[in-house]
Amino acid sequence: MRRSTQYRKRDNRKSGTINGNNHSDQPLATDTVAQAKSAFIANISHEVRTPMNAIIGFAQMLKSSGLNEQQSDYVDVIIDSGKKLLLIISNLLDISNLQLGKTGLNPRPCHLDVLADKLWQQFRPLILAKNLKPILECATDIPEVVIDSEKLERVLGYIISNAIKYTNHGHITYRVSYKPYNEKSTMICMEIADSGIGIPEDRLPHIFEVFEQVDNSITRPYSGMGIGLGLSSQIVNLLGGKIKVLSTVGEGSRFILEIPALLASTDRYK
Ligand code: ADP
Repeated sequence: MRRSTQYRKRDNRKSGTINGNNHSDQPLATDTVAQAKSAFIANISHEVRTPMNAIIGFAQMLKSSGLNEQQSDYVDVIIDSGKKLLLIISNLLDISNLQLGKTGLNPRPCHLDVLADKLWQQFRPLILAKNLKPILECATDIPEVVIDSEKLERVLGYIISNAIKYTNHGHITYRVSYKPYNEKSTMICMEIADSGIGIPEDRLPHIFEVFEQVDNSITRPYSGMGIGLGLSSQIVNLLGGKIKVLSTVGEGSRFILEIPALLASTDRYK
């Protein structure tokens, strides 16, 4: 555990660091049973998406067909629940495709400061709505890089959403910086820190596993399925980077991503 003033380890509290990456070149599901399971989930998810889209689409049409207030409220519940279900199905499909090694990358030149601003515009209101302090620290001289920004944005979205969900007072901080890597590439460093509930040391080794939640009991106060971090670590793995977490119960968590990226100024992207 790296120590800092903010995340000092206390004698009576457990803290730790865990790395969430699998750096083998093999697809994550290596044995036949796991492959068959992933393929089954991928097929089912794909098939369920079509009727789900129809349910949501027709519910939206129904809503604009002159309903009374109560009927309109009921239809809102159908639309909202449908969207939640669709998100779960999309996540399952993504997990399966990643495990089957079917997910490709779409690298494009990207300004990380612009991406940071975009994310902050999206999440700042949610942070303020919980009376938390939003802190964005982005290096001003960060070079343009070539990366699959859509996938990166997705990972950051999951981690920032979690930070907001599991923090009830204090701050949510998003830091973006870089360090030299080699002639043509740079190492981009992103950190999402919160002052939330933290993660117990004994749960840290499992936190990047799919369907893993710290509190699996039915009475757990936070909703979720335990997919976000599993998906994030697999995407970061695909991007060739590393993700790790430092956490202290009752003090907060820091999720740190380091991803190598080609400089957009290299010949091919000039
Ligand atoms: P979920 O949908 O349950 O949030 P995730 O995969 O995103 O699933 O996270 C897995 C578990 O890790 C969560 O259920 C929660 O227990 C824990 N966790 C994730 N992020 C944080 C955080 N910032 N602070 C405390 N606990 C966290």
